[in-house]
Amino acid sequence: MEYFLTEQQKTIKGLARRIAEEKILPVRAELDETEEFPWAVIKDLADSDMFRVFIPEEYEGLGGGCFELCLVIEELSRVCSGIAVSYAASALGCFTLLEYGTEAQKQKYLPHIASGRRLTAFALTEPTAGSDASAIKTTAERVDGGYVLNGTKQFITNGGEAEIYTVIALTDKTRGARGASTFLVEKDTPGFSFGKKERKMGIRASSTRELIFRNCLVPDENMIGKQGMGFIMTMKLLDRSRPGIGAQAVGLAQGALEAAVDYSRQRIQFGHPLISLPVVQDILADMATRVEAARALVYAAARTVDSGAKNFTEESAMAKVFASDTAMKVTTDAVQICGGAGYMKDYPVEKMMRDAKITQIYEGSNQVLRNAIAIELRKRKARRE
Ligand SMILES: Cc1cc2nc3c(=O)[nH]c(=O)nc-3n(C[C@H](O)[C@H](O)[C@H](O)COP(=O)(O)OP(=O)(O)OC[C@H]3O[C@@H](n4cnc5c(N)ncnc54)[C@H](O)[C@@H]3O)c2cc1C
Repeated sequence: MEYFLTEQQKTIKGLARRIAEEKILPVRAELDETEEFPWAVIKDLADSDMFRVFIPEEYEGLGGGCFELCLVIEELSRVCSGIAVSYAASALGCFTLLEYGTEAQKQKYLPHIASGRRLTAFALTEPTAGSDASAIKTTAERVDGGYVLNGTKQFITNGGEAEIYTVIALTDKTRGARGASTFLVEKDTPGFSFGKKERKMGIRASSTRELIFRNCLVPDENMIGKQGMGFIMTMKLLDRSRPGIGAQAVGLAQGALEAAVDYSRQRIQFGHPLISLPVVQDILADMATRVEAARALVYAAARTVDSGAKNFTEESAMAKVFASDTAMKVTTDAVQICGGAGYMKDYPVEKMMRDAKITQIYEGSNQVLRNAIAIELRKRKARRE
């Protein structure tokens, strides 16, 4: 399928593919086994300017948008989505700053993020607030010169590894989600520490940790946007970032498809390669069609985000839901085609199937996002009436 990429987009995509093939492929199985954070690869990505892709030129970035970010995430995920998500989380962690930060905040943080020297993370989820993000309990109490944060965040990607955290906390407990605000918290701030590192089914090269705030004083100048706007900014941020999860899913599915085609070409049963069996051809054809449909939807959603459109909740949710369901289906089919070998850790599809599951869960589970799509449809119907 032709997606009419510009020369710059082709270069970014090609570079990301090269890093994935040359730097990630040789270490992906080991990092999956050891659950070690991929610092060496992060450095390679930084040296190749990959963290500049999603930062505007005035802050030492390359001026790309959601679409360019998706191209990188897709290529990295084709080889290892655990490493891809460590990269992508740094974009998620700075989107609110990019969109709503003051000039001083942007000047202070974005050039470091663009250089890849300082990773970021985004912290919304808490033990009692997952799908129902409005149930957060972390508080930010106003004091002279700043806010004192108290509470615990759970399942935070890049937790412990990132230097800069975008944290959502209640500045007014009585107003629920309308009382939430957004803060930038630096790693070495007194009162900020890390809990356990989670042991996961998939994306095991990524780090997922608890963040603990105990009387953590954050200066006034680290609040992003207006007090009380934290929840609204977060919902908009997630609309912007969900095509990235779609891209992660597309890359994963593409990697699994390629592995299944390779295996079915060389595996001989009943005197013929598996790929000569019509039933295997049917499965491969469906896999390839689904991957391409998911890619088209993710690219369209990412381009909508970059178009300056005001509302893209529906497009972005559709892209994430469809691509992640595709990744789960295609990676499962890839294991099936590879048979017993596919179930073994010596073959990459076993890891890909484990890695795919999370794409249906995080940044809004697919059930919750289907609700969101239905709400948009109802609004549209109401407007027609
Ligand atoms: C590896 C990993 C990395 C993560 N990274 C981050 C991060 O960087 N930052 C961050 O803030 N969070 C992060 N999260 C949190 C993630 O976004 C949440 O796990 C997710 O939103 C789901 O919340 P939950 O796990 O509490 O599930 P729950 O909300 O408890 O949901 C459990 C099940 O119930 C279903 N359900 C819940 N409510 C409804 C409803 N209204 N309608 C239909 N079905 C419903 C869900 O679909 C799901 O299947 C991460 C999670 C994981 C596992």
